[in-house]
Amino acid sequence: QSEAETYSFQAEAAQILNLMAHSLYSNKEIFLRELVSNASDAIDRLRSERYAHPESVGAEPEQEARIRVAFDKDAGTLTIADNGIGMSRQEVIDNIGTIARSGTAEFLRTLTGDQRRDAELIGQFGVGFYSAFIVAERVVLTTRRAGLPASEGVRWSSDGKGEYAVEAVERAERGTTIVLELREGEDELLNEHRLRSIVQRYSDHISQPIVMGQDEAPVNQASALWARPKSELSEQDYHSYYRHLTNDYTDPLAYVHTKVEGRYEYTMLLYVPSRAPHDLWVPQARRGVRLHVRRVFILEDTGQLLPGYLRFVHGIVDSADLPLNVSREILQGSQAVDHIRSSAVKRVLKLLKELAEKEPGKYADFWKQFGGVLKQGIADDPAHREDLTELLRFTSTRSDTQDADVSLGDYVARMKEGQDKIYYLLAPSLAAAAASPHLEAFRAKGIEVLLLGEAVDNFVVSGSLREYQGKRLQSVAQGAPDFGELTDEAEKEAAEQADSDYAALLGKLKAHLAGKAWDVRVTNRLTTSPACIVADGEETDFTVVQRMRGSGL
Ligand code: ADP
Ligand code: MG
Repeated sequence: QSEAETYSFQAEAAQILNLMAHSLYSNKEIFLRELVSNASDAIDRLRSERYAHPESVGAEPEQEARIRVAFDKDAGTLTIADNGIGMSRQEVIDNIGTIARSGTAEFLRTLTGDQRRDAELIGQFGVGFYSAFIVAERVVLTTRRAGLPASEGVRWSSDGKGEYAVEAVERAERGTTIVLELREGEDELLNEHRLRSIVQRYSDHISQPIVMGQDEAPVNQASALWARPKSELSEQDYHSYYRHLTNDYTDPLAYVHTKVEGRYEYTMLLYVPSRAPHDLWVPQARRGVRLHVRRVFILEDTGQLLPGYLRFVHGIVDSADLPLNVSREILQGSQAVDHIRSSAVKRVLKLLKELAEKEPGKYADFWKQFGGVLKQGIADDPAHREDLTELLRFTSTRSDTQDADVSLGDYVARMKEGQDKIYYLLAPSLAAAAASPHLEAFRAKGIEVLLLGEAVDNFVVSGSLREYQGKRLQSVAQGAPDFGELTDEAEKEAAEQADSDYAALLGKLKAHLAGKAWDVRVTNRLTTSPACIVADGEETDFTVVQRMRGSGL
């Protein structure tokens, strides 16, 4: 056995530890949920590693996965042990000592001061381990990484005040054991009945057995929820499983659970969350769908199971057709995976469509949270463009609010007699759109215009989405103002008259702006502004050009 080395926590870790010890007490039981969930992750990781990199776990015996919760009344300790993947010395330092994760700073920023809410945020931001310090004055973690010799066991200990110690120990069995030396006054946790009820409340859906004391019968259900028949499951079951999967503390907005049999056999349980995660726009952020093969966790999706524009979806895909040693490379060329992916996309889009039809209020919430992501699909996924188009919602000139509540279907249904185009305006923001002079004539004629203020809208309208129900999408900032059938005779005559009246002025302006403007025209598109700039008919929309310049393209 070697000398212990002492390290200091990073500033942020110390801040979080301090918070655990002093501010999250009202929801203290969650520490057990977090430690059990880490144990469960460690077991899943061992399994997936065993298949993906068998050499790295060496000749570890395959034991039945197990999470053990025990207590010692006399010593005042609580122990959570797993036979999962364990950690090497470096992993202990990286994963437990430093909190280098992006989530940490984000977590501190998100805190509200409401203890209950803040405690629920812990798991989501990857600081769950530290919740042990809510009830413990000292934590001792002993671990050995699968594949390493018994002599490479590691013991980590800390009182959570600023420093931690790491030393080498012998440890025959792989996995991790965490001993919590409880604070004074926490004796009530040293009680079998109390612990069982916490486990059942927070960890019932952990798919590995959680056992207590000498009793080998699991305290939890210990079964894969998605493999159970729908008829046995209540909404409550689905919701709590969602919380377990995601660490989200709000209920999901919608979910779909289906078992498919036929050429390929698979089960899907997919959830649409009600709130966007803090890292929705972080490109490398973890995806929410987990792939299982016959119940065994294989890997987290990195885009094979669902496309990027559905990255907010969480859930499980369990396939009966893939080999257990499937790797990402194999997934890419697999017909079974292609099939699953396209069916998963269809199910999610159908789920959203039903939500929009049956619960428009909920769908509006969804759109606020995820509309920007979903829109990417219009450009990225031509195969599902039609279904996606029905799901789009826009702000329009019909109301003064910035609520995006107009579907293309609504728009077309309200089109004026003789109107044959769907008019839209792209602008750097919704406020800029609403104030644009391009709208004046349309307002005057009572023609609705869709207002597009997000960067992703460029890709929606320029190229990808050219028409809907046979109606062309037309930018109001492009080309000659064209009201088509909506122009009446008197207006046409007035326009011709104006052209000849102002011919001399137009000539002068054209000469003056030579090389800067293609053309100078008299227009009927304005009612109060004296002039505006429009893009040529064939040219890219002005807003798009500006955005491209801004982004250095
Ligand atoms: P998260 O679980 O969200 O990553 P935690 O603070 O709960 O955040 O855990 C931090 C990290 O410590 C985990 O990602 C994992 O690498 C490691 N870890 C924690 N508990 C265990 C365990 N029982 N076995 C193996 N590794 C663990
Ligand atoms: Mg965790």
